[in-house]
Amino acid sequence: MKQIAILGSTGSIGSQTLTVLQQFPTDFQVMGLAAGGNITVLARQIQIFKPQVVAVASSEKATALTALLKNHGVEHLPQILMGPEGLCQVATLPQVETVVIGLVGFIGLLPTLKALKSGKQVLTANKETFVTAGHLVKPYLRQIVPLDSEHSAIFQCLQGSQAPEKEVHKIYLTASGGPFRELPLEQLHHVTVEQALNHPNWSMGDKITIDSATMMNKGLEIIEAHHLFQLPLEKIEVVVHPQSIVHSAVAYVDGATIAQLGEPDMRVPIQYGLTYPKRCPTAFSELHLDLTTLGTLQFYPADETRFPCLRLARWAAETGGTLPVVLNAADELAVEAFLKGNIGFMEIPKRIEWVMKLHMPHWADQPTLETIIAVDTWTRQTFTEMSDLKAPSL
Ligand code: MG
Repeated sequence: MKQIAILGSTGSIGSQTLTVLQQFPTDFQVMGLAAGGNITVLARQIQIFKPQVVAVASSEKATALTALLKNHGVEHLPQILMGPEGLCQVATLPQVETVVIGLVGFIGLLPTLKALKSGKQVLTANKETFVTAGHLVKPYLRQIVPLDSEHSAIFQCLQGSQAPEKEVHKIYLTASGGPFRELPLEQLHHVTVEQALNHPNWSMGDKITIDSATMMNKGLEIIEAHHLFQLPLEKIEVVVHPQSIVHSAVAYVDGATIAQLGEPDMRVPIQYGLTYPKRCPTAFSELHLDLTTLGTLQFYPADETRFPCLRLARWAAETGGTLPVVLNAADELAVEAFLKGNIGFMEIPKRIEWVMKLHMPHWADQPTLETIIAVDTWTRQTFTEMSDLKAPSL
């Protein structure tokens, strides 16, 4: 039986991982769970999966969780850890072989690095790890199975290739184009939080849904693919595919293109990651794709005028070093500000670009983990100060 830990267990990836795991009760045992603040859902997960160790964001959350579990009559309480340290402890539990990273944002970097360094197999949906520290993850690529649907697709299409660096002509990273793919440009300035959260195909967490609407998500995924598959940026092409059925494709040098198709449902890439390199039957019959009823699949080039975030991500990717760290942190804050109603939709790329330009005189290549953390902190401070000044230049 494989021992497993899940970081971000109450989020979209984490909770779907647990749903998939319920199909394989004799193959996996959940040893550790880590969640931020959703104590109600975490308590339910603890009752079902009985992990030995859990981690929560703070001591207040730990106290609340203990009270809730006692209230529910749970006799054997798990060990309850807290804060970023607790997250790293769950990521490195000695008995655990596989760690699932369902954390969104920069917070995923440290526990991912710790899990990799302690030899764990890491199934990750945390693109920020690759965006901010691709070069630090490079020595451990063989331990990683991607869960991000596009990267899982590419990973699957690459199975059997002996030398991807020579055999791959290009990678097609598919994007749905989000809810605003066809909205007249001038109306993009006035879109509401509600409209941006209404993704046509995928149901995901708020941060990724807004990133999909701005297409920053695809930008971050370009950088993720670049590091994960060690392919040059010019071999990674974004293609808009509104139906979200083709999850990505690999075009080989001999003219053959292999694509991975499936329902837009994260349970497929999550199960593939969990059972890799095997394939096991799914209990969810709705996940079987019926090609005879699919109808038309469309593909278009991506429009960087409509989606300036895509251009910013390309700039960060090509420049490398600390610039993607700034891109990532500024985007996290810009999305947060948009979700709170503090800035408009088209201000997201403007503010990110502003901070990126401010950073350039201090740019450094091959940053250490300490530098990455310092640049992330600088970006957050600068962004916040800029918001306090109401950013008159914008
Ligand atoms: Mg994705």
